Amino acid sequence: GDLGPEQEGLIIAHYGQQLDIEALEGEDAGKVVRCFVRANIDSLVTGDRVVWRMSGNDTGVIVARCERQSLLQRPDNFGALKPVAANIDHIILVIAPEPEPHDNLIDRYLVAAEITDIPVILLLNKSDLLDDQNRDAINTLLERYRALGYRVEQTSAQTEGGKAAGVENLIAGQTCVFVGQSGVGKSSIIQTLLPDEAIRVGAVSESTGKGVHTTTTAKLFHLTCGGHLIDSPGIREFGLWHMSPSEIEYGFREIRDLIGHCKFRNCSHLGDPGCAIQAAADEGRLSRARLKSFHRILEDMAEQQARGLKLD
Ligand code: GDP
Ligand code: ZN
Repeated sequence: GDLGPEQEGLIIAHYGQQLDIEALEGEDAGKVVRCFVRANIDSLVTGDRVVWRMSGNDTGVIVARCERQSLLQRPDNFGALKPVAANIDHIILVIAPEPEPHDNLIDRYLVAAEITDIPVILLLNKSDLLDDQNRDAINTLLERYRALGYRVEQTSAQTEGGKAAGVENLIAGQTCVFVGQSGVGKSSIIQTLLPDEAIRVGAVSESTGKGVHTTTTAKLFHLTCGGHLIDSPGIREFGLWHMSPSEIEYGFREIRDLIGHCKFRNCSHLGDPGCAIQAAADEGRLSRARLKSFHRILEDMAEQQARGLKLD
């Protein structure tokens, strides 16, 4: 059939060989069109901007991919990186007083975020649960990350207005992903941000739930605050996949600068003589807690490697 004029679009979902794009131009802006992809275009993912044209009454064809600002990738079973989502402005790492945050796990998420070079924001949810028992420990933890230059915010998904206060300002005009341990309140925050119709069609529970409707694809949602969210089960496993020693070194931003300064080129940083990272900790330039979790992550990953186990 006749092809329509070329126009810009945004990939909002991905189903095998087909993609849903949202038209960005002209009268059709906002319309969602199921598209096929020309064979010469590789690896399109949700969040990609593309050039497309109508190729029938209600289908289109994608003819080019626009340049990406950022790319979230994860390793497959063989360690090869595969793209998951494109053009993300912020990774929002959600933590909460409950489940109790383990700095080792937070650092693991941060390493995964640093590898992508996408800015990460730490968001403390469930601020309503802060009390005299946990407040000091949480503040110490957050202060450690502020001192490293991370932006730290807090909110509660359970407030009277039903909005996660502060989060809307955080993501207005941005495309973000929410990551973090199960139970910290990611779904709850997302529910407060979604427009009613998205909730009605069960879009998020369908794409993120652990139940029967789980799809492997990432979906993009427009939020009422003018921000955008990309969410998928794969993104929810963010940070849990395998990382190499050099990625772990890079992922600790205050350790990154020390790479190459150890006495031995193959330093394991686990007690070898002349280790620059150990020296930084001894001299107080690297926090003990961060050094401990650096060691722990290196050891966990080495063990995972030895077992030949990688999360898929
Ligand atoms: P997810 O696994 O990160 O998506 O977490 P959920 O959104 O499923 O939330 C886990 C539990 O924490 C649920 O029982 C929520 O009702 C609860 N929860 C989420 N946000 C808050 C909050 O701000 N305050 C309190 N007190 N509970 C919350
Ligand atoms: Zn070393």
